[in-house]
Amino acid sequence: MAEYTPMIQQYLTIKADYQDAFLFFRLGDFYELFFDDALEASKELEITLTSRDGGKGNRIPMCGVPHHSSKNYIAQLIGKGFKVAICEQVEDPKTAKGVVKRDVVQIITPGTVMEGSMLDEKANNFIASVTPFENRYGFATCDLSTGECSITLLDEDWKGVCLQIQSVGAKEVIVPSNVDSESRVMLRDQFHLTVSIEDDIEIPEPLHTISEHLDVPEIRESAERLVSYLVRTQKRSLDHLQRFSYVDRSGHMKIDPNSKRNLELVETLRQKQKKGSLLWLLDKTVTAMGGRLLKQWIERPLVQQAQIEERLEIVEAFMQQFFKREEIREQLLEVYDLERLAGKVSYGNVNARDLHQLKRSLQKVPQVKDILLDMDHTGLVERSGKMDPCQELAGLLERAIHEDAPLTIKDGNIIKDGYHEGLDAYRDASVNGKSWIASLEQKEKERTGIRSLKIGYNRIFGYYIECTRSNLHLIDEERYERKQTLANAERFITPELKEKESIILEAEEKSVELEYELFLTIREKVKEYIPKLQLLAKQLSEIDVLQSFAVVSEEGQFCKPQLSEDGTLHIVSGRHPVVEKMMNRQDYVSNDVYMNDEREVILITGPNMAGKSTYMRQVALSSILLQVGCYVPAEKATLPIFDQIFTRIGAADDLAGGQSTFMVEMMETEYALSHATDKSLLLLDEIGRGTSTYDGISLAQSIVEYIHEQIGAKTLFSTHYHELTVLEDSLERLQNVHVKAVEEDGKVVFLHRVEDGKADKSYGIHVAQLAHLPSRLIDRANELLGLFEAKQSDDSSDPATRNEVVNEPSNQLSLFEHEAESKPRQQKGKDQNAVLSHLKELELLTMTPLEAMNALYELQMTLKKDKREESKWVRSNS
Ligand code: ADP
Repeated sequence: MAEYTPMIQQYLTIKADYQDAFLFFRLGDFYELFFDDALEASKELEITLTSRDGGKGNRIPMCGVPHHSSKNYIAQLIGKGFKVAICEQVEDPKTAKGVVKRDVVQIITPGTVMEGSMLDEKANNFIASVTPFENRYGFATCDLSTGECSITLLDEDWKGVCLQIQSVGAKEVIVPSNVDSESRVMLRDQFHLTVSIEDDIEIPEPLHTISEHLDVPEIRESAERLVSYLVRTQKRSLDHLQRFSYVDRSGHMKIDPNSKRNLELVETLRQKQKKGSLLWLLDKTVTAMGGRLLKQWIERPLVQQAQIEERLEIVEAFMQQFFKREEIREQLLEVYDLERLAGKVSYGNVNARDLHQLKRSLQKVPQVKDILLDMDHTGLVERSGKMDPCQELAGLLERAIHEDAPLTIKDGNIIKDGYHEGLDAYRDASVNGKSWIASLEQKEKERTGIRSLKIGYNRIFGYYIECTRSNLHLIDEERYERKQTLANAERFITPELKEKESIILEAEEKSVELEYELFLTIREKVKEYIPKLQLLAKQLSEIDVLQSFAVVSEEGQFCKPQLSEDGTLHIVSGRHPVVEKMMNRQDYVSNDVYMNDEREVILITGPNMAGKSTYMRQVALSSILLQVGCYVPAEKATLPIFDQIFTRIGAADDLAGGQSTFMVEMMETEYALSHATDKSLLLLDEIGRGTSTYDGISLAQSIVEYIHEQIGAKTLFSTHYHELTVLEDSLERLQNVHVKAVEEDGKVVFLHRVEDGKADKSYGIHVAQLAHLPSRLIDRANELLGLFEAKQSDDSSDPATRNEVVNEPSNQLSLFEHEAESKPRQQKGKDQNAVLSHLKELELLTMTPLEAMNALYELQMTLKKDKREESKWVRSNS
């Protein structure tokens, strides 16, 4: 250490406390990084790596970013999951003795971003903390930008906990140091989370109110760990943090993270985009706060009948009172993000423009209140009554803050005339001084007769009188003092000019200082309103979401659903709202769904691509829509309240997590079976597809039987195993339905219509034909199918016997038997067999369309190569 310069020693001492962050070390107008930080940051940020003398001629690596453009660089590092510790000079370099004192003033981490440009306005930016206890975990989350804090207990295993963190969309997670390194690695590598350690659970006195109501020690400890971390990293007042709300998970419909993904509630499965998700469909909110609340509602549908009905009724009121709804939308459109604004105020980085926006937002509230009051719905009238529009605050801001204040808060022009006498006096002095100077210019022009004489100002000399060289002889040198000589002019000052100048400058300086002070006082005043603003934000965002439901329901021609008491689920002419929206509405075939206690398990058969999975999803989405309080896409619907929804849909392969598709399928099924109750909804799509036929059928059948006998959950089960349709005879609450397809001119036409009964055949070969597999291959497949069917009707339906058909040598028909034996043809037969077996093994469900195209292309190329080989052979033999 001793060999380093005092400044580098200071750097190293500070850095020792911030090992897990890039230390941005303030040096003049730059933030500099040294040693390993410099090596790594120069790569991550693609900036030049240099070096400097660290003492005794040792060069140490260094790189730096200008202070004024540091935000972009910080954003890049945070975006990559790193943390940045901002180290500032904390004393005035002019008066400092020795090395200027420096200290870390803030640690910016992915979960604690406050900078507007780094936040998605319609999504929360959550940071989570997890604290392990004997057989459960405390799970706290906070959005620092809005101050929302919530806490719950999880009884999942570690993987389940990770999935929960991922599904709330947290970017960073805080754990105590006793969480083993394997678990931390899982968070970091499999779930791409920034992991931070916090062992402290003591929080400063002023923040006690946010957690003191949590009386279960485990819950309280988890909450306080999170707050401790925020206090330690942010190093400032966090007055906007709201009391932790305890999320009782039984108070909401549970949708596990897999199901949430599968149902594409907030983003699409493959592209991870909002467009195409349920959230996208429902989002007609006009405020950012409403957008965020909508997302929270979708992730946590209700289960209490009264609350659901209350929301539905408000939506109905907004549907019926169209003009008032439109007026509300118009007013809300101008309401700024009050929640994040409260965060900024508390954080100390609010500027005059933000306050101006706050005023404009508050000025809209009385109108919103009036419209609600005037609506024909008691719930809305009540809500109107509860809104405090904070008009004293709006009045203060109206009197104080300039409409076109600049972004900076230290350069003046923020406070309006008439707000403060002292400020007005300074401004008068400055204005008077300036007009005195203007009249002096006029007087001097007249006195000297120099028309071009002028009075100017610059930072170095202050005010001066300028006279061109050719007029110098007209000047009375006695009165003027020469100050500066230019190429063709001279500049002069006079004692009285200097006297006025000092009055003007002093007034200006003082007024800027005073403005800043006044601004800070106003900001403190706004701070007192934080809880009120947060409450108002909640009230307005709720109205925003409910009006959004009304807009969507109207546009999509949704209907107001009825809640059923006896478990009946009856959807008449239901649709999948997103699939419908993505296509021409006329082309969408609506379908009925009927389930009750006698008709609990629906077994769906039908060709691939017929619409089985769309049908199943539409049931789940309609239930979620009802339970968030929105209308549902149907002509008529009666639905029960589900406690949970589970899905096992499509292929969510977890290759990164090191699990095979089939293993994932089984694990998801296990999760569903072990958690579902008779109040749950289960969607199981093509269970058993990921293994061999006989394994698959056996598993599928036993799963259906298990659900039917042991769980009693409403279940939609789609399968391509036609063998399962016989279950209808033995399981009394099981009903076969099929998605209709018909053959026209030997081709399959999907009708997307769901009818009772089983599918007549599987149409797999027709689908292959639609995919333009070679016609010879299709013929051969039909031929084999004929054989299987004939054999099946001869034998018992025992799959084992059927298996023999395939394996019997006599039936291993060479593919294109009408062709004569020949050498290339033997090779060709092999290739074609290979093509077929490859084709058979393709896991279509796990492939993207592009992968499927590529696979098809390769198969085709193999066959084409055959053709070329053959014609070569024919030519060489002829
Ligand atoms: P499956 O699960 O039977 O393989 P999907 O449910 O994935 O089939 O549906 C395949 C495609 O068919 C969908 O992407 C959609 O374009 C279309 N489709 C499904 N159901 C309908 C419907 N009811 N009306 C119109 N098109 C539909």
